[in-house]
Amino acid sequence: MMNIAVLGATGSVGASTLDVLGRCTDRYRVFALTAHAGAEPLLELCRRHRPRFAVLSGVSEQRDLGRKFKEAGAELLLGPAGLEAMASHPDCDAVMAAIVGAAGLASTLAAARAGKRVLIANKEALVMAGPLLMRAAQEGGARVLPVDSEHNAVFQCFSEKQFIKKIVLTASGGPFRTTPLEKLAGVTPEQACAHPNWVMGRKISVDSATMMNKGLEVIEARWLFDLAPERIEVVIHPQSIVHSMVEYLDGSVIAQLSNPDMRVPIAHALAYPERIDSGAKPLDLTTLSSLTFEKPDHARFPCLDLAYHALRAGGTAPAVLNAANEVAVEAFLERRLPFTAIPAVIEETLGSVAAGAAGDLGAVLAADSEARRAAAGRVQRFLGRAA
Ligand code: NAD
Ligand code: MG
Repeated sequence: MMNIAVLGATGSVGASTLDVLGRCTDRYRVFALTAHAGAEPLLELCRRHRPRFAVLSGVSEQRDLGRKFKEAGAELLLGPAGLEAMASHPDCDAVMAAIVGAAGLASTLAAARAGKRVLIANKEALVMAGPLLMRAAQEGGARVLPVDSEHNAVFQCFSEKQFIKKIVLTASGGPFRTTPLEKLAGVTPEQACAHPNWVMGRKISVDSATMMNKGLEVIEARWLFDLAPERIEVVIHPQSIVHSMVEYLDGSVIAQLSNPDMRVPIAHALAYPERIDSGAKPLDLTTLSSLTFEKPDHARFPCLDLAYHALRAGGTAPAVLNAANEVAVEAFLERRLPFTAIPAVIEETLGSVAAGAAGDLGAVLAADSEARRAAAGRVQRFLGRAA
């Protein structure tokens, strides 16, 4: 039996993970479930999956919460320290890192240091601190397995690195791939979150609409597969059936296909090198009308170039990019910033916060804080101008 901690259990990846785990109760035991706030949804998950521990990382007051969780069989921990405690607990074998954003970094790093099997969905941790995280995994003896569908696809197609020419990450192009450019300034959070192929959390949905998601994934791939940026290419594939590809020196291109369902990469990462039922609908090639591919439109999606720029600048620049993006996306979701101002906030933050060496976690977190302040100021100035 493998004991699994699901960090970010109440989210979209968390739900898909619990669905897969629920199909394989003979192999996996739910060890811990975490959520930031919202005791009720977490309690409901505890009643269903009976973990040993539950963590509410954004809650500091108990009242009668502990008793309610106890009735569901779980010991309740409050505050962010509980996340790291679960990620590194000696009885925990594998950690699903499915917290959204920079908030997931410390626990993902803790799981890597503690030598766990780290199923990594929390791409922002790799964007902020890829070299630190991969080194911690190596030193701790952890196995990092990609859950992001593109990286999981590359992982499935990846062999003999010396013969690989490049990897090709596919992107759907999101909900605004064909929206007239002049209409983009007026799009709403609801429209941005209505992804054509995937149902995901709000932050990653907006990232998909700006294509910053693909930019973050380029950086994620750089560290997961140890490839230079020029060997990581992005191609638009609106049907989201081919999840990514690896091109070899002899001209062979190996791709991984499935219906767009996160349970496929989650099941793969959980069971690797074995295979288990994910619950996903089998792919019926004969019902697909076509698979199409096109180059990304850089004028429509400036965030993609900003991410390559930050990756090439190195050091803390990707952490600055990530923090500015989190601030801008939140402002957009709260209707304080137009969609088209998201890349402007990020670009100006990258220009105003000097990138330094990302030698340790302290340097990364300091860059993250400074970038958040700069980006918030930029959003504020934008509001002032709009008023
Ligand atoms: P979500 O918003 O649906 O869920 C986020 C989870 O994180 C929730 O359980 C929430 O309680 C928790 N959380 C939020 N803020 C927190 C904080 N400050 N501290 C601790 N916990 C916090 O997000 P999601 O769509 O499931 O995405 C999770 C991660 O997986 C993201 O990094 C995303 O980029 C990545 N990812 C998601 C998908 C997808 O299909 N949703 C696909 C690939 C990668
Ligand atoms: Mg992805």
